Amino acid sequence: FKTKLEEMKGKESVSRDGFKVEIAGNIGTPKDIDKVLENDGEGVGLFRTEFLYMDRDRLPSEEEQFEAYKIVAEKLKNKPLVIRTLDVGGDKDLPYLNLPKEMNPFLGYRAIRLCLDRTDIFRTQLRAILRASAFGNIKIMFPMISNLQEVRDAKAILEEVKEELRKENISFDNEVEIGIMVEIPAVAVHSDIFAKEVDFFSIGTNDLIQYTTAVDRGNQDISHLYNQYHPAVLKLIKMTIENGHKEGIWVGMCGEAAGDEKLIPLLLAMGLDEFSMSASSILKARWLIKNTSKKEVADMIDTILTLPTAEDVESFIDEKIL
Ligand code: PEP
Ligand code: MG
Repeated sequence: FKTKLEEMKGKESVSRDGFKVEIAGNIGTPKDIDKVLENDGEGVGLFRTEFLYMDRDRLPSEEEQFEAYKIVAEKLKNKPLVIRTLDVGGDKDLPYLNLPKEMNPFLGYRAIRLCLDRTDIFRTQLRAILRASAFGNIKIMFPMISNLQEVRDAKAILEEVKEELRKENISFDNEVEIGIMVEIPAVAVHSDIFAKEVDFFSIGTNDLIQYTTAVDRGNQDISHLYNQYHPAVLKLIKMTIENGHKEGIWVGMCGEAAGDEKLIPLLLAMGLDEFSMSASSILKARWLIKNTSKKEVADMIDTILTLPTAEDVESFIDEKIL
């Protein structure tokens, strides 16, 4: 089987019936990019920038960030690099920010909420990302969006930062795409409206499952309730993809589910455009895509979404698709 996977290198990610998708890698540090390229990833669908801010005692400077983003952009040549702005809070603490202790950290002061409050931190990061955009194919993604005003505010700040760079004669990609993580149910449900104001969606299933089912993703005692086959989650994913496509934007996924062998055929059939996963899953995912007929599985989606439980969904996939 290993040689079969090796044969996937250099090939396009096209379904058996001819539909093309993109299979990209998730990274957490600049050195992770080597693994993505070794496994023939077609880009990076999620660069978690938190690493730059963690395990240290002060904020990273604009220069430090610029270097980190630029290195990755250059190594990818023209392949897309989706950089997600700071997603701390929840279980990721930055001691030097002295964030308040909260009753419900996962529902609290974090990610884009923190960035729109601490605009000094946000602006520094946006400057660094924009400057790096002159060296590759960078896209910017905002995490933990829950309402439209956050998108508008984040975009307004980005425009201000662009204007600042223009005045300083610093080059950047003026057409840089702006997207959001769809990882809060309110956004998936309202995705028809959000799609009008961004260039792409990336579905974050790790949090989308957590928030849809109210199951803490890190709590071992309830991990049996955390399930990517939950029909409600699948309905939200399908709705998000369809609404994105109606507005002509592309829709990716960068949560763990994007690399799940049982879900890949379903996601392909629902029309997902980009799958971003850990580097080690890329070639297997390409092999699966190549061996799946998108149309055949698409005919089963309505049936799957009427199944009562996650267990029913999983058995259906095992018996009828794989
Ligand atoms: C997600 O929530 O699915 C996601 C990709 O983001 P993170 O795992 O970093 O929260
Ligand atoms: Mg998330």
